[in-house]
Amino acid sequence: MKVLKFGGTSVGSPERIRNLISLINQDERQIVVLSAVAGTTNSLVAICQEYAEGKNPAPRITSLNEQYEDLIGDLFVSNEYRIKAKELIDIHFGTISSFSSGVFTPIHERVILAQGELLSTHLFHYHLQEIGVPSVLLPALDFMKINEELEPEIPYITEKLGAMLASHHENNIFITQGYICRNAFGEIDNLKRGGSDYTASLIGAALRAEEIQIWTDIDGMHNNDPRVVKNTRPIAQLSFEEAAELAYFGAKILHPQSVFPAQKYKVPVRLLNTMEPNAPGTLISDQRSEGEIKAVAAKEGICAIKIQSSRMLLVYGFLRKVFEVFERYKTPIDMVTTSEVAVSLSIDNPKYLKEITEELQAYGQITVDQDQTIICVVGDFVASKAGIAARVLDELKHIPIRMISYGGSRNNISILLDTAYKNEALQSLQRLF
Ligand code: ADP
Ligand code: ASP
Ligand code: MG
Repeated sequence: MKVLKFGGTSVGSPERIRNLISLINQDERQIVVLSAVAGTTNSLVAICQEYAEGKNPAPRITSLNEQYEDLIGDLFVSNEYRIKAKELIDIHFGTISSFSSGVFTPIHERVILAQGELLSTHLFHYHLQEIGVPSVLLPALDFMKINEELEPEIPYITEKLGAMLASHHENNIFITQGYICRNAFGEIDNLKRGGSDYTASLIGAALRAEEIQIWTDIDGMHNNDPRVVKNTRPIAQLSFEEAAELAYFGAKILHPQSVFPAQKYKVPVRLLNTMEPNAPGTLISDQRSEGEIKAVAAKEGICAIKIQSSRMLLVYGFLRKVFEVFERYKTPIDMVTTSEVAVSLSIDNPKYLKEITEELQAYGQITVDQDQTIICVVGDFVASKAGIAARVLDELKHIPIRMISYGGSRNNISILLDTAYKNEALQSLQRLF
C-alpha cells in the first residue's frame, strides 16, 4: 500500500484534477489524500473571521461558491455529473452559510474549515466515476482522531482504517480528506494549517505503508527557502531527523509535525512535483550522510525571553523552576542558551507571554525580544568534524545575532536573529552550498 498526498495547487484547477489520475498507478493499492483546492482554506479562514467579527460573510461566500460553479462546469462533461456536482456544492455552501455572526463559536469555525477538503475529495471521486475509474471515498472523519492533548491516535487509525480497507478488498484507489479529523469530544477538528501532509504521514504510519508520496508544486525539498533565495536546489536525500528539523523550523513544503509518524514506523517519504512528475524529488528515509550541510530554513514569529539573576550562581534547580512555568502554560520552548547569571529561551507561541513573564519575575529580571526568527542550518554534523559552525557563522558575520544553539542534536545549528535580517541571512547562507 502506498499513500499519495496531493496539495492545494495539485487540485487547483480542472486540468490539474484531470491530470491526477496519470500520477496514480491503477494496478496498485493506494490511498489518495487530497487537500482543499488552492486558496479555499484561506477563503474559509477569512469567512470565519467575518462571522466572528460580526461582519456579513455573504459576499465572500458567494464569490467562493462561484469559483466552484466554474470549476465543475469545466471538470465534468456529462449533465448527470454536472447536476450531481452542483447538488454537492449546494450542500457544502449551505453549511458554510448556515451560521450567524452573533453566535459564532470555535466549533462552528472548525466545521467551516472542513468544507474545503470535503469538497475536493467528493469532486475528485465524481470525476473518477465519470471517466469510469473505480474508487472508494473513505471519510477521514470516520478514522482520523486526535486525543485531548491534540495528539493523533495511531492505533485507532490503524483499527478503523484497516477495517474500512478490508471491506473493499477488490478496490485499488481509495480517496480521503487531508487536514480534517475528530477530536476527543467527537467534534470536527483539524490538524492545523498545512495538515494534509500530516494526514498522509499518519495514514502511512498507521498502515505501515510501503511509501508516502507528497505531491506538490516544487521538485522536492530545496536547500533554502525558494520564496526568498534565488538558485536554490532540490536535495536528493534527507534523513528523517534532517527532514523533521527542516519541517519544524519553517520549510513550508512539509507540515511541522508531518515527519514524526513516518519516522516512527520507518516509512520512506518522497517529495514529488505534480508539474514535473519525472523529476527525482527528495527521498526522506533512515539513511544518513555524515558531515554535510544539507539545507537552511527559517521560522518567524519567535519571541526571546531572558531571565537574568545572580541567584542562578552555583545554584541547582533554577532551570527546573523556569521550565515549569512554561510547562504550566503548555508553551513549548524551541531554543535555550545559558550563562552563569542568565538564561535565554525562545518560544513560538506568545499566547501566554504575559502570564509567563509575570511568573518568571519571581526568578530574576526579565527582558523580552519580539519579532525574532530562528535560522536553522540542517545536516548531519558529527562532533569529530571541525569547521562546520565556523563556516555558518562566517556567512553571518555582518548580521547581529541574539542566540546560538549548537550540539543539541547532531542535525541542527540554530541561530536567533531579528526578523528584519531574516532574508539577508538566508541569502548569505546560500553561499554554503
Ligand atoms: P501544498 O499546497 O502542495 O501543500 P505548500 O505551499 O504547502 O504546498 O508547500 C510547497 C511550497 O513550499 C513551495 O511552493 C515553496 O514555495 C515552499 N517552500 C518553502 N521552503 C521550501 C523548501 N526548503 N523547499 C521546497 N519548498 C519550500
Ligand atoms: N487545506 C489545508 C490548508 O490550506 C490543509 C493543507 O492544504 O494541507 O492549510
Ligand atoms: Mg502544504
